[in-house]
Amino acid sequence: MLQSVEEIENSLMARVYQKLPIQVVKGKGALIWDDKGNEYIDCMGGYGVAIVGHCHPKVVKAVMKQAKRLMVCHCSLYNDVRTELLLKLNKITPNGLSVSYLCNSGAEANEAAIKLAIKHSGKRGIIAMTGSYHGKTFGALSATWDAKYRKSFEPLLSGFKFAKFGDLESLKKQITDDVAAVIIEPVQGESGIHIPPQNYLKKVKEVTKEMNVLLIADEVQSGFGRTGKVWACQHYNVTPDILCSAKGLGGGLPIGVMVSKQEIASSFKVGDHTSTFGGNPLSCAAASAAIDVLIEEKLPERADKLGNYFIKRLNELKMRHKIVRDVRGLGLMIGVELRFEVKNIILNGLKRGVLFLYAGRNVLRFLPPLVITKEQIDKVVEVLDSLLGEEERRRGLA
Ligand SMILES: *Cc1c(COP(=O)(O)O)cnc(C)c1O
Repeated sequence: MLQSVEEIENSLMARVYQKLPIQVVKGKGALIWDDKGNEYIDCMGGYGVAIVGHCHPKVVKAVMKQAKRLMVCHCSLYNDVRTELLLKLNKITPNGLSVSYLCNSGAEANEAAIKLAIKHSGKRGIIAMTGSYHGKTFGALSATWDAKYRKSFEPLLSGFKFAKFGDLESLKKQITDDVAAVIIEPVQGESGIHIPPQNYLKKVKEVTKEMNVLLIADEVQSGFGRTGKVWACQHYNVTPDILCSAKGLGGGLPIGVMVSKQEIASSFKVGDHTSTFGGNPLSCAAASAAIDVLIEEKLPERADKLGNYFIKRLNELKMRHKIVRDVRGLGLMIGVELRFEVKNIILNGLKRGVLFLYAGRNVLRFLPPLVITKEQIDKVVEVLDSLLGEEERRRGLA
């Protein structure tokens, strides 16, 4: 007989997730609680989903109201709540990107972008970046760099090539006549928080424009206020041709969006790309409320200010701990690279009331809700300070 929640999930659910040994039952702002009542500061944020905080009252209210009114409405019918979201998206997306395709996840938004680029250009080639992550469906996976995700499923889609992230010459060499688009994360997340050289994205935009190739910005992780501006592209004054968002956009509910310029969007004809759940009223109501919260609570500004503070405090830890190799980040998208694997730090963090996230074996990744407080950041730094010390002693480094 299966009894515990752990046993049931481990046996009745596809074992495709690296599990941590806690059962989370409640969340509020930047805090979550397990079934035993233990409290954690959530630096994982559902892998960057909980941008406006767990169970934000405005999102909860909007979802409850909409749940009672209408939950199912296919996009072949018009809907007031969806319209409201489209207008709000139009206000926060970069100028010129006005046409949205609504879907349910980050990978789906990228699939739509890849298909649109192919349809619009009549070409098949896509250039992605070394270290990229775009999701695990076949198209998105074909644009994803890491061999550990790709290997078992090759051959993937043909026509995908990789340029070295941050290296303009490498990109120029890859842009041949058959290339439809370049897809890039303005700040790379999954591969360990990598920020490109200051002028790089601007140059990528110039090169793609010159070569008549579309630029797709995958802002699924870096977008929606995370890096200190609504979109990470805005740090570099770059407007992509197509922008993808998901994760935090729904205030916790599943939603993704691909936005593009009108003249590109019009290459999609009726039936070219659709989704049964895409644009459903419940997710739309949640995203609508999440956008209001993002603007009203000035969360991008908050991410900028608190991110700088967090990075400054983490750099102090780097000075004190040999085990820390590098600290890097933009807003509240932060990576701390260690000289050893981060597994122990994460497991021991749980015992000290902090939920950390990893990116690869050696990087601690911080994607907390943007409503996290300075005091909560101080607590995280204090816990990490002592965990790093313990790890150093264990490894005979201190
Ligand atoms: C998480 C992520 C995705 C995939 O999103 P899913 O919702 O898991 O499909 C795609 N791109 C980036 C940059 C991401 O961080």
